Amino acid sequence: MEKIYLDNAATTALRPEVIAEMVSVLQNEYGNPSSSHSFGRTAKSKLELARKTIAQLLNVSAQEIIFTSGATEANNWILQNAITNLKVKRVITSKIEHHAVLHAVEFLQKEHNIQVDFVKIKKDGTVDINHLMELLSQEITTLVSLMHVNNEIGTVLDLEEIAKICKQHGVCFHSDTVQSVGKMELDLQKIPVDFMVASAHKFHGPKGIGFAFIRKGLPVHSIFHGGEQEKGIRPGTESLHNIVGMAKALQLSFEHLNADRTHIQDLKKYTIEQFQHHFPDVAFNGTTENTLYTILSIRLPIDDSKSGMLLFSLDMKGIAVSRGSACQSGSARPSHVLAEFLNQEEVLHPSIRVSFSHLSTKKEIDTLITALLAV
Ligand code: PLP
Repeated sequence: MEKIYLDNAATTALRPEVIAEMVSVLQNEYGNPSSSHSFGRTAKSKLELARKTIAQLLNVSAQEIIFTSGATEANNWILQNAITNLKVKRVITSKIEHHAVLHAVEFLQKEHNIQVDFVKIKKDGTVDINHLMELLSQEITTLVSLMHVNNEIGTVLDLEEIAKICKQHGVCFHSDTVQSVGKMELDLQKIPVDFMVASAHKFHGPKGIGFAFIRKGLPVHSIFHGGEQEKGIRPGTESLHNIVGMAKALQLSFEHLNADRTHIQDLKKYTIEQFQHHFPDVAFNGTTENTLYTILSIRLPIDDSKSGMLLFSLDMKGIAVSRGSACQSGSARPSHVLAEFLNQEEVLHPSIRVSFSHLSTKKEIDTLITALLAV
């Protein structure tokens, strides 16, 4: 059975060049970057080259990139630091953030008794900027934490605009940019965001590695206590093969960005047309215009009773997509993202998330539709 992978917002396949680079490091550069002998020095130079590569691609300085185990760690760290170190008394975020932000904020609210305000989400799944401005008119030390691209529906925040609004109001701005890094140009000299995070496995790199961007001059406490790695703020022996793989993956993402984006945009358009043709009452969560080209959240006009079987039956046919609404193990709870802006009737229909990569094809979409028509 030919398998079809359309779940690239969950994770992506490694590019062959990334694997080759990682294998070479695993075989040859096993020195510890902290060691002063030649093995260590070679490893250290690879590490710093990787940092420089990533920094250049985002137009920041190398010292502003700190390697972490991924975005969950980086988000938790930045949010915690804002409260304990930047003395933030309030976090403004949204209810459609990834749990790596939402649950971290909930925890910090309980621990530190901070104020948490949720910015309203509009009917199209985007952030209500007027409401954000209203919230910002209250004078209190604040961190704004809003994701760049929503991982379930793909809606895009105007990062530059929000970053500028935060600057005007003298508040710090953190963005979970996991779904956008490697998928669009990000010039951080133009976008005055203070903190952002990425995870390599979302852009065809390895799992268990990511980075935090921390704007120069902003104080950060160390996440753990240990050695001097990462200027002592994120101690622990560096995962060199993963770091080098991540830098290679990001470099390749940017090298192929125009071609990949054109291919995927065309494929997304085809997918929308095909769904509209075969399921005339289909709807898309978040308008299709303001979502990133890699993600399409499809609300199917399928009978509610069939929704529980939907993903299972696709999986049996070797097709991997993701669930956009719950109905898992008998539970009819919608995803926290969809529940935020869909009405009661809309939530009842099963939603699936199709997320593309440069490897996805029209033939795969045809097979997906044929499989859905048979459910
Ligand atoms: N933030 C967003 C928007 C994500 O999509 C993900 C992964 O699904 C994460 C954070 C967490 O990333 P990781 O599991 O690699 O730490």
